[in-house]
Amino acid sequence: DSSVESPRIKPINKGAVHRICAGQVILDLPSAVKELVENSLDAGATSIEIALKEYGEESFQVIDNGCGISPHNFKVLALKHHTSKLSDFPDLQSLTTFGFRGEALSSLCALGDLTVETRTKNEPVATHLTFDHSGLLTAERKTARQIGTTVTVKKLFFNLPVRSKEFHRNIRKEYGKLISLLNAYALIAKGVRLVCTNTTGRNVKAVVLKTQGSGSLKDNIIAVFGMSTFNCLELVCLCISDGCKVDGFLSKPGYGSGRNLGDRQFFFVNGRPVDMPKVSKLVNELYKGANSRQYPIAIMNFTVPTGACDVNVTPDKRKIFFSDEGSILRSLREALEKIYSPSHASYSVSRFE
Ligand code: ADP
Ligand code: MG
Repeated sequence: DSSVESPRIKPINKGAVHRICAGQVILDLPSAVKELVENSLDAGATSIEIALKEYGEESFQVIDNGCGISPHNFKVLALKHHTSKLSDFPDLQSLTTFGFRGEALSSLCALGDLTVETRTKNEPVATHLTFDHSGLLTAERKTARQIGTTVTVKKLFFNLPVRSKEFHRNIRKEYGKLISLLNAYALIAKGVRLVCTNTTGRNVKAVVLKTQGSGSLKDNIIAVFGMSTFNCLELVCLCISDGCKVDGFLSKPGYGSGRNLGDRQFFFVNGRPVDMPKVSKLVNELYKGANSRQYPIAIMNFTVPTGACDVNVTPDKRKIFFSDEGSILRSLREALEKIYSPSHASYSVSRFE
């Protein structure tokens, strides 16, 4: 149709681009808090407290005793694609940190009010930093603090109308998802004391999750789910294809968890919590052979060579590409078939009921 003019192509305004991209990194309350917890773990913290106000709706804060942030980094701290963890593409192959894209703090600035308090071992006092929505440092003052970092976010999603409405309407649901996600970090972070508190009403502070900083997965499971749940699990340690092993805990036959699919199933790749729908499906399917009424609890860490998996698939890094997923799933199936075979299962369901 010759009456239609070809529209002019022009760049989107910088602030709008920032907000658009930020909304893809920070999807919801759980992903916002997750980024901060991962930063604390990357900073070598052995103690991390997640302090929520009104289930995270009013504010959330992550307080760590990690290495802190040096003053020369203050100005660039919340700038997009500024990171201390990666400088060139090949680094991705050997990456061991949770973060590497330098997007979290910049995105949180775009979507809420961000302040940071931090101190390294070289500073006698801490500094309190305020950032604007484009990630620029706007104020800086001295304050008292131990070595480490506190990041506080208020008014999350104030400028994304749809997300903001969802956030406030579904806050309890978001909170539930957040606790489940924090459980994953609490389980896998060995030697890290992780505490989550929620303050509601007139300063009523409740501890909703607490681990002791033990070096064993077993102790973390007991801290998160309790001894009686732990007693229903058995240790699995499987060598599957070349250089790839799986270890963790699975429900004993006959001692599954609730009837909800995916309830209490946690998968990790090299210690990174991820979604593994195919593995979950496989575990559920084979467990059925031993117990048709319940789903198993599963806490499974896959150790694979860092070059054999790609975590840079989705902005939240929950999805993983394996270079040879087919063979991993095949060997896992063989190994699980043995665990949940009728002969192994015989000591459970019938004898204990
Ligand atoms: P990334 O984690 O991908 O590097 P972020 O935006 O999450 O990007 O963080 C930017 C940088 O800020 C990090 O590379 C790190 O140097 C520093 N940083 C963020 N949080 C902390 C923290 N809790 N302790 C120490 N340094 C931190
Ligand atoms: Mg990060």
